[in-house]
Amino acid sequence: MMVAIRRLGAHLSTSGGVDQAVRQAAAIGANCLQVFSGSPRMWRRTSLDKIDAVKIQTAQNELDVRPIFTHALYLVNLASDKSELVQISAESLKHDLRFDSHIQGSGVVVHLGSHQGRGFEAMKLQLVEQLRQILADTPPNSTLLIENSAGQNGKIASDLTEIRWLLSQVSSSRLNWCFDTCHAFAAGINLASVAAELTALDLWSSLKVIHLNDSRDPFNSGRDRHGNFGEGTIPTESLRHFLQTPQVKSIPLITEAPGFDGHGPDAENIIRMKTLVSYNT
Ligand SMILES: [Zn+2]
Ligand SMILES: [Zn+2]
Repeated sequence: MMVAIRRLGAHLSTSGGVDQAVRQAAAIGANCLQVFSGSPRMWRRTSLDKIDAVKIQTAQNELDVRPIFTHALYLVNLASDKSELVQISAESLKHDLRFDSHIQGSGVVVHLGSHQGRGFEAMKLQLVEQLRQILADTPPNSTLLIENSAGQNGKIASDLTEIRWLLSQVSSSRLNWCFDTCHAFAAGINLASVAAELTALDLWSSLKVIHLNDSRDPFNSGRDRHGNFGEGTIPTESLRHFLQTPQVKSIPLITEAPGFDGHGPDAENIIRMKTLVSYNT
């Protein structure tokens, strides 16, 4: 039987263009990647007609690097009680979804934001309304992926039942999710047994990408600080166990490790990632 090759990649800088990020992925031993559509700290974006999609696809075909995911801005907060911030967040996500469509990417990963202590129940309908409108205003071949959070400061979706609820309410094939191992660990989710929880919540078919990150903080700390593989606090056994789950084997893995020189994911992290993934118990 033909076994599809596993997709292992990293979040990389697009300062030289998305096509250069594709080449950089291949250079560090990765075969898929995640990018920002512009600076993650600024709302401003360059117009899509300045992005040469053909050039990107040429690099992808030449090097067999796919898929490409886009990470939304960290400034986004769809759960805020400030309507101006919600509106600018929605506009930014719409841009990223158009970018995803333009480059034929596989989805925009988003941290929905923080309810700032008001609780999920208090603003969950606002989220549904915003998500529906964002999808209605964007191309049908673009996908939005809700990422689980580490939970600190009222961050939405540290509890996987919140993701389940949002996916069910919005009920669109264009709304799926991303599981981040660092965030889960920080939110008090045991990675060695989380597979059963995903099965119970029927969250496998909507899981489109995994952020494979180690954590710099202890279990249940609520903190979102990624670690390099081999330097973090997540027990290696738990990560190996999770990666051996049959459903996980067909899902692209993206690391957002800080890098051994602090400049983001590097070849050494990809090597360590491959070792983790190929470990058979
Ligand atoms: Zn992540
Ligand atoms: Zn994170």
